[in-house]
Amino acid sequence: MTDHIDRKGLAPRFWEKKPLTKLNDKEWEALCDGCGKCCLNKLEDEETGEVALTCVSCRLLDDESCLCSNYEIRHQFVPECIVLRPDNIDEHAYWMPETCAYRLLWQGKPLYDWHPLISGDPESVHAAGVSMRGRTVPEFEVGEDDWEDYIIEEPT
Ligand code: SF4
Ligand code: SF4
Repeated sequence: MTDHIDRKGLAPRFWEKKPLTKLNDKEWEALCDGCGKCCLNKLEDEETGEVALTCVSCRLLDDESCLCSNYEIRHQFVPECIVLRPDNIDEHAYWMPETCAYRLLWQGKPLYDWHPLISGDPESVHAAGVSMRGRTVPEFEVGEDDWEDYIIEEPT
């Protein structure tokens, strides 16, 4: 199947040879496994700092592909969408999904074998059952006051 993230022409296992801060833009973008989990709405307890994940997705997330339906111009629609970068991952890692490649590498952990950079197949993240394919509810269907009824465990 076509990989919507450009992973062609990259050095083999580049993520094991360079720190996150040394990756070029293409390498950085290629790290995304396409799971869609960072595009879910979260509930954060202001007192404890605990983060609960919901299956209520951002209005631009495509439930089938698990990709942003308008990535290049997404900030026109979702100005609050965070642009993750090597210099801000320290402040965001705490809420990122456990299996997220950026978080794993930031923690010094290896990528899973189902990561498309290893499997060579963008479908492997879905076949492994760790993506949000077919599992989301669009945010325009659920009012923010009801999000707590949609809290889920991260599929890992
Ligand atoms: S959680 Fe990480 S790997 Fe998954 S879609 Fe978001 S950035 Fe990509
Ligand atoms: S705008 Fe796109 S990338 Fe940002 S959270 Fe929404 S679906 Fe994800």
